[in-house]
Amino acid sequence: MKKGILIVVSAPAGCGKDTILEQALAKNDNLFYSVSATSRAMRPGETDGVSYHFKTREQFEDMINNGELLEYTEYCGNYYGTPKKAVTDMLEAGKDVILKIEIEGAANVKRIFPDCTMIFILPPSIKELDRRLHKRGTETEEVIALRLQQAKKELAFAENYDYLVVNEDLTVAVEDFLAVVMGEKCSKKRSVGLIEEILSDER
Ligand code: 5GP
Repeated sequence: MKKGILIVVSAPAGCGKDTILEQALAKNDNLFYSVSATSRAMRPGETDGVSYHFKTREQFEDMINNGELLEYTEYCGNYYGTPKKAVTDMLEAGKDVILKIEIEGAANVKRIFPDCTMIFILPPSIKELDRRLHKRGTETEEVIALRLQQAKKELAFAENYDYLVVNEDLTVAVEDFLAVVMGEKCSKKRSVGLIEEILSDER
């Protein structure tokens, strides 16, 4: 069985990464979304085990000490981490695994899995990102300004990613994302020995 590919996705808040991933997962059965563990509080609309595995700080620290996490980080005062077993099991089973993680965790994953595919989702412009953050209508001007500042910092790291998907139009962004996954799966570097195998009549 051919192993799946590991896909790391990062994007600042307000770039629509959750919606893009939701739609991409609905369209491609071979994609598996890795549910992270976090010590942050559950938000309205979230479900334990689906959005995240919600843990106390103590439970999270036990996971760290037991070596259960592939990577973890502290972001805005909360722990976030990727459970190792589900990821490695799914890759072995041939599934393409998506990690939706911030830039520091992404850089750590790249060190552990150098052949992972790194995708950064970008807003079409800072003006548009500002508009989208305001549209949510849930945060104060001060929080929005902070988020925008944080987004600009994170955007500078897009440089380190393999693919950039601009979310100007959601449908196009989903198609672009799925095309990147397919392109990667067909790349020659992921099919070492395939040509020889076909030529040698082993099939
Ligand atoms: P939120 O609290 O808004 O759900 O997530 C905050 C940030 O943490 C997002 O950038 C999200 O991608 C990132 N994140 C979620 N899960 C993980 C994880 O397992 N590891 C790392 N390093 N970052 C994560």
